[in-house]
Amino acid sequence: MKRIFFILFVCIFLTNLYGQSQTITIIPLGNVDNSLLKAVGKSIDDFYGYDCVIDDKQDVTPDLLSRYGTKYDANKILNKFGTTGHVLIISEYQVIILERGVIETSVWGLANCPGRVCLASIYHLNSDSTELFYERVSKVCLHEVGHNIGYKHCTTTYKCIMNEVTRGLRELDGQEIWMCDDCKK
Ligand SMILES: [Zn+2]
Ligand SMILES: [Zn+2]
Repeated sequence: MKRIFFILFVCIFLTNLYGQSQTITIIPLGNVDNSLLKAVGKSIDDFYGYDCVIDDKQDVTPDLLSRYGTKYDANKILNKFGTTGHVLIISEYQVIILERGVIETSVWGLANCPGRVCLASIYHLNSDSTELFYERVSKVCLHEVGHNIGYKHCTTTYKCIMNEVTRGLRELDGQEIWMCDDCKK
């Protein structure tokens, strides 16, 4: 009997350690195609082993507007939706972070590191190719979920999923759905 308990304990420990038993709730903010949400969920499951469930669509509200009232504030979105469980919000809308209290900088995503809430915006990721569009959104989501797990920005190679993309879509397209050994350490 003792032995069974011990084995069970080890299993629970290992599944927690590797995230196999964990779930991420994907919340669409605005109109985001269900097929895209499913594709992102699958890529997160394949890459990190998290189960993903897709929640009901949420609408933006005035409390999420940025200081100047024209775009949506990524930090406000994280604070509003990141209250229960592990959550990935995928926004139809452009999202910004407010730098030094005055400068609005548009971002593709934002995450607590480590933490249990992250955000991706599909606003700037469009492509004529649906396949490329889905791949871009998946990459941004995998990057942000990586921050939640505790991975910092990669300093080894631009191809790594934890590379901080600063030079636009071409750089994102050069990134691979892959994490380098230095980041995995
Ligand atoms: Zn790396
Ligand atoms: Zn990042």
